[in-house]
Amino acid sequence: MASNQTDTIAREQLGGLRLTKQRRVVYEVLMDGKRDHPTAAEVFERAKVRMPSISLATVYNCLETLTQVGAVKQVNLEREASRFCPNLNPHGHFYCSECQSVADVPLEGDCESARAWNLPDGTQLQHIDVTMKGVCPKCSEKKTAS
Ligand SMILES: [Zn+2]
Ligand SMILES: [Zn+2]
Repeated sequence: MASNQTDTIAREQLGGLRLTKQRRVVYEVLMDGKRDHPTAAEVFERAKVRMPSISLATVYNCLETLTQVGAVKQVNLEREASRFCPNLNPHGHFYCSECQSVADVPLEGDCESARAWNLPDGTQLQHIDVTMKGVCPKCSEKKTAS
């Protein structure tokens, strides 16, 4: 991705946050191709390729800042390190118990996900976090093949 393209996306999504070189590298790692919800340690490994001088502490800081301004979402799975997701559209996460991959699950049509839950009247919903667990298509194919 060209860096001025990243600038445009970033400025819209970061609510005016200044993109330092380090933040940009971290953000680009998350936006890059795979979008596989890397952990902070994985982001660090990939960021080092682009910027060998970057430290793990800096990566943690950048991820925290990006999460705070809402440019990136933190995905927490039980007994696992937090992962990071740059997809800001409403979506759930599917966690494969075989290969430990995390995939985005888009919502069906434009249904409001809040309507799917039987919330008591007067509830003020602030955040929905849906995580599904199972076996991904690739792994279930492997399972039936063997
Ligand atoms: Zn899998
Ligand atoms: Zn996601």
